[in-house]
Amino acid sequence: MRAFCLLCIALCVCFAQTHSVTDAEVQRVHRSAILIDTHNDITSRTVDGYDIGKNKNDGHTNVTSLKEGGEGAQFFAVYVSSSYVKDNRSAHRTLEMIDTVRHGIVERYPNDFTLATTADDIERIHKQGKIAALMGIEGGHAIEDSLGLLRDYFALGIRYMTLTHTNTNGWADSSGDIDKAGVQHHNGLTPFGKQVVGEMNRLGMIIDISHTADKTFWDALATSKAPIFASHSSCRALCNVPRNMTDEMIAALGKKGGVIQINFNCGFLSEKSAAAGKTVQDSTLPGQAGEDATIAEYRKKVPPATLEDVVAHIDHAVKIGGIDAVGIGSDFDGVFCTPKGLEDVSKFPNLTRALLEKGYSAEDIRKIYGGNTLRLMRAVEAEAKREQAN
Ligand SMILES: [Zn+2]
Repeated sequence: MRAFCLLCIALCVCFAQTHSVTDAEVQRVHRSAILIDTHNDITSRTVDGYDIGKNKNDGHTNVTSLKEGGEGAQFFAVYVSSSYVKDNRSAHRTLEMIDTVRHGIVERYPNDFTLATTADDIERIHKQGKIAALMGIEGGHAIEDSLGLLRDYFALGIRYMTLTHTNTNGWADSSGDIDKAGVQHHNGLTPFGKQVVGEMNRLGMIIDISHTADKTFWDALATSKAPIFASHSSCRALCNVPRNMTDEMIAALGKKGGVIQINFNCGFLSEKSAAAGKTVQDSTLPGQAGEDATIAEYRKKVPPATLEDVVAHIDHAVKIGGIDAVGIGSDFDGVFCTPKGLEDVSKFPNLTRALLEKGYSAEDIRKIYGGNTLRLMRAVEAEAKREQAN
């Protein structure tokens, strides 16, 4: 009898650890969600003529793989490198990047994409069987310290702005250079930075705190009247890098209706990958000169993170911030190393399987994949409506 009980306990433990999931269940749950990825950098290639409709194997994103991965909506990064600050070319670059989404992706493939600017748009376009294409600016220097430019970008369809990239700008500190001597820091947001946040609230643009210094996050959270998000960041408790969020930050973000969109960059998921990545000359981004050599060096030196690492970050963020505070911001085509099992946009069903195996319900997965982001977008839209009515 005692042996029988022990056997029962052993079986129970085994079952709890490996909840077996059928292919049909994975497909059913995956299709029932609207998968919204809040950060993809393929735009840094399409701006130079890369054809997103061609099935190439050298990147993470193309039309066929987006469909294989079952993506419902994609926020394309309107990434503006800090290199454009020097000669005041940030606005020029921003407009080119907006054009590559509107013209190079959506107009070029109208049967596959429709431009979206609201949560309702995403749901409508998803029902039509197309991918909703949205835009977020990466790097607050894009506005060249002008609320007028911010309003122009909103009019062109921008729906979030990452307050900084790796560079501190005139009004917000970045995590990328916070310890760098010679950079003029502001202890978070300047009074003008708070005005930017206020104008984003009034317009209905999501405040994105990925890349910002911690104090900028706290200032943005305190200033914003609408929930804010991290479009592509992971958990610092599991991988101690400044680009990730501390537990304190995740909890506070969740409390105010915000969302941490988990980033798939190996170096933000695994401390092993992060440590190895430090030894690689990291001066180029995908699509830029020198990329091939840097990628080759990365592949040689950096052990990739895994699908299990992604699940661990999601699970940790859920434990700290709650099931309503977590989403997906892959950073595909913006990073050199992606996890084993989640190599590109076509592999999202693997994540669905892993989450089901971990014990997440279909309802939980629908929240993480898109429900939380739709709720946040609606809150941002409602705040704008309220402020514009006054
Ligand atoms: Zn980024």
